[in-house]
Amino acid sequence: MGKVVIIGLDGGNFDIIQKWKDKLPTLKKFIDHGSSGYLKTTIPPLTIPAWPSFYTGKNPGKYGVFDFVDRTSKNKNKIVDSTYVKSDSLWSILSKDNKKCCVINVPLTYPAKKINGLMITGLLTPKRDSFFTYPKQLSEKIKDYRLHLDVGYTKKKKKEFFNDAVKVHRARAKTSIDLVKSQYFDFFMVVFTMTDEISHHYWKDMVKKTKYEKAIFRIYREADNSIKKLMDTAGKDTNFIIMSDHGFGSLEKMVNLNLFLIDKKLLFLKKEILTNLKYNLFKLGFTPTNIYNLVCKLGLQDFFPEPRINKNVREKLLNIFLSFSDVDWNRTIAYSLGNVGQIHLNKKDIHYKKKVIKSLYNLKENNESIIDEIYEKKDLYSGKYFEYATDLCLKMKDFSYISYPVFVNSNKIIDNHPLGISGGHRLHGVFLAYGPDIKFNNVKNAEIIDITPTVLHMFNQEIPPDMDGKVLKEIFKENSDFLKNKIKYEKIDKTNLEKQKINKTLKKLRLL
Ligand SMILES: [Zn+2]
Repeated sequence: MGKVVIIGLDGGNFDIIQKWKDKLPTLKKFIDHGSSGYLKTTIPPLTIPAWPSFYTGKNPGKYGVFDFVDRTSKNKNKIVDSTYVKSDSLWSILSKDNKKCCVINVPLTYPAKKINGLMITGLLTPKRDSFFTYPKQLSEKIKDYRLHLDVGYTKKKKKEFFNDAVKVHRARAKTSIDLVKSQYFDFFMVVFTMTDEISHHYWKDMVKKTKYEKAIFRIYREADNSIKKLMDTAGKDTNFIIMSDHGFGSLEKMVNLNLFLIDKKLLFLKKEILTNLKYNLFKLGFTPTNIYNLVCKLGLQDFFPEPRINKNVREKLLNIFLSFSDVDWNRTIAYSLGNVGQIHLNKKDIHYKKKVIKSLYNLKENNESIIDEIYEKKDLYSGKYFEYATDLCLKMKDFSYISYPVFVNSNKIIDNHPLGISGGHRLHGVFLAYGPDIKFNNVKNAEIIDITPTVLHMFNQEIPPDMDGKVLKEIFKENSDFLKNKIKYEKIDKTNLEKQKINKTLKKLRLL
């Protein structure tokens, strides 16, 4: 059986790959000789839950993570980690079948869990501690691996930021290639995230043709080079999949959804003197964004709590302004938490929901609604963790308008990004596949949850029946075993499940 390699391109955009394919020879090979198409991701199109939905093959309602913040507890500031993902992963299933796996830099894998092989954790890894690799000793062998960027982005540091991003990419690619060379793996995966970082910060440079116009192209070319080296090292019997967690486009505006909800009397502030004072200061224009802009203008940004580096200090600063602690929760009907357009209902009755939806459609700019669609949680999620899901998710101007990740950031409902971030996520990312079993085809209707069942099928594994994704059979050649082999689903022993249920009930009764 041949090997399977997945290369993640965080924020990868299929349109620009097609446009630049003559200058990206490796990616061109995938498009001209393999299977390719858009890859629909989760709604909202966010790195998390997109990557865990990929590696579980399930919608977030089945594994319990909907966003960067924990929804299952009352603490609204708790950032999730891999222990929150209540489901098997692609590599845990392969490991159980003794397949050798190597998984590098996949978001939401920290703390590293046991795997039959090697793991280096990805996004949301705080530092190089003993949970950053599996096994722990691996960390000693990869001293040159870069976990984070050293340079924080500011408009004045565009060059340094880009150069650092290239260094981080190269360090991760080199470690990946060294590990592929060092031993045999049945399944290998690495996620390159600098495509996302650079697209966020240089999108408008590309559109407006500034002197940093080529930054995004250059990071794609770096990725193309690294993929070529990985392919040369892995050998000809390997089937490759390239995927992104979401697509990319411009980021036009930021929306202070909580401020809108305050205006519409759906969110209420406490009637305390301090809150009133804060609210009035806020209305006068003393906002975190304005203070930040002032500091930048004075050239003091190096001494200022830059969000990428000093998150705690920034949060403290933001607390001087309006925050969730100022909210009157007894009266509040809805609030926004999350950085795309997530709305949570504090009062769950259906008439409140209808009222909130009606008001939101009136969120206008120049007399035109900015809302394309309001998804209700029943449209997006199912499963054991359904009750914790975001109640409503807004699609505002094809996700080119997104909400602030903090309570409120300025006294305008619709505002520019305070740091000049000009690129944002889109619903359709990229899917490419190439190898001895992969045919030339345009793939339609591929979704991020389809990759795990597809790879399990390639390893002749049984697919857990609660996976939401499907096997992408249209990518396989006519003579490939992958096309001939029947898709196998794991059988659940119902009598056993019933027995377990009865035992649980008996235990409970005894406790009562
Ligand atoms: Zn991103």
